[in-house]
Amino acid sequence: MTTQHIETLIIGAGQAGLATGYQLKQLGREFVIVDGMARIGDNWRCHYDSLTLFTPARANGLDGLPFPGDPWHFPTKDEFAEYLELYAVSNDLPVRMQTRVERLSRSSDGRFTANLGSDEITCDNVVVATGTFGRTAKVPELASTIDPGIRQLHSSEYQRPDDLPDGPVLVVGASHSGLDIAYDVAAKHPTTLIGPERGNVPLEWGSGRFRRAFPVIEFMFNHVLTRRTPMGRKVMAKIRHHGAPQLRVKRQHLGERGVEWIADHVTGVVDGRPCLDDGRSFDVASIIWATGFRQTYDWIDLPVQVEDGWPVEYRGVVESIPGFYFCGLAFQYCFASGEVNGVSRDAEYLARRIADRTPAAAPAVA
Ligand SMILES: Cc1cc2nc3c(=O)[nH]c(=O)nc-3n(C[C@H](O)[C@H](O)[C@H](O)COP(=O)(O)OP(=O)(O)OC[C@H]3O[C@@H](n4cnc5c(N)ncnc54)[C@H](O)[C@@H]3O)c2cc1C
Repeated sequence: MTTQHIETLIIGAGQAGLATGYQLKQLGREFVIVDGMARIGDNWRCHYDSLTLFTPARANGLDGLPFPGDPWHFPTKDEFAEYLELYAVSNDLPVRMQTRVERLSRSSDGRFTANLGSDEITCDNVVVATGTFGRTAKVPELASTIDPGIRQLHSSEYQRPDDLPDGPVLVVGASHSGLDIAYDVAAKHPTTLIGPERGNVPLEWGSGRFRRAFPVIEFMFNHVLTRRTPMGRKVMAKIRHHGAPQLRVKRQHLGERGVEWIADHVTGVVDGRPCLDDGRSFDVASIIWATGFRQTYDWIDLPVQVEDGWPVEYRGVVESIPGFYFCGLAFQYCFASGEVNGVSRDAEYLARRIADRTPAAAPAVA
């Protein structure tokens, strides 16, 4: 076993981890970023084939590297993955891929230990940047009582409509992924979408009106809908627990593809089939659970307080565990915190807190 000591360990090389590394580097701090995946950007590559970002390129750049190309184009998931790789290389960030933290603990001297299997890293500060809504699929328990002849998958496993068996498809969950996936699936399968509507941003995505309104939306998402305003806190509860409103894919687009959208919940199973409260059941070949993710902290052996499934923190700082931080959480500070656009400001705030706590400065190491 080898042990290395580093001032700050960042767990996760998605946009949140990379942005935190960039900000620490600006302050001359020593850090390393680790990630369990093979290649930077794999966290985007693994999504469904048709995924393009709902945010235009102008809102997809992190501090230190604007997103290339037409500022109004909507990048594909692979383009964004390449951008993240380029970001790490062009800012010379020390990243170790294929390095999963299996356990994180703290010793009596206040230092943290990250167990990486055969090796370990000890550090004074840790930033957990393992995903906005977590990366563990959240599927209702009733799924286990559904007829095994029905193919079931979580939205994170869905790739393309051709992979599904012939026959009708039920998509459960009408947040961003559910709407996107229902639209995609409906090109090849009769599709029903189930889930309450979460509101609608009344703009045709990419239109002239959208472009004119976008600076106002950005301002709202970054400066008005924050944890400091009553309106922001109300939206925070909705976003963290119920998902996003209709953005690019709207009811009308789903209707054009023949998707039936039932604004209700799947609450039971009858004769092996999913059903609604009113007893209506669905004879389908596949079910896609677009029911979101949850944060799992079973690998973190620290007294992290969790309320309603979310860690107790403010702007990513966990006051009860000095040196322990989160970055990239949905509504860490504002609506944009869970998007590319808002993460650099959150990362900068954390980097300053880390620098204030750890006076000695040293250059970043690879
Ligand atoms: C389908 C979908 C579409 C989205 N579209 C947009 C969009 O258009 N625009 C926008 O701004 N935002 C969008 N988002 C929201 C947000 O930008 C993404 O969720 C983004 O991936 C969050 O980045 P992150 O760095 O916080 O987390 P992630 O991208 O999830 O990265 C976390 C990283 O942590 C690693 N990790 C986890 N646990 C460990 C461990 N124990 N040890 C080591 N590594 C670990 C993972 O391998 C992963 O690489 C979208 C989200 C989804 C799910």
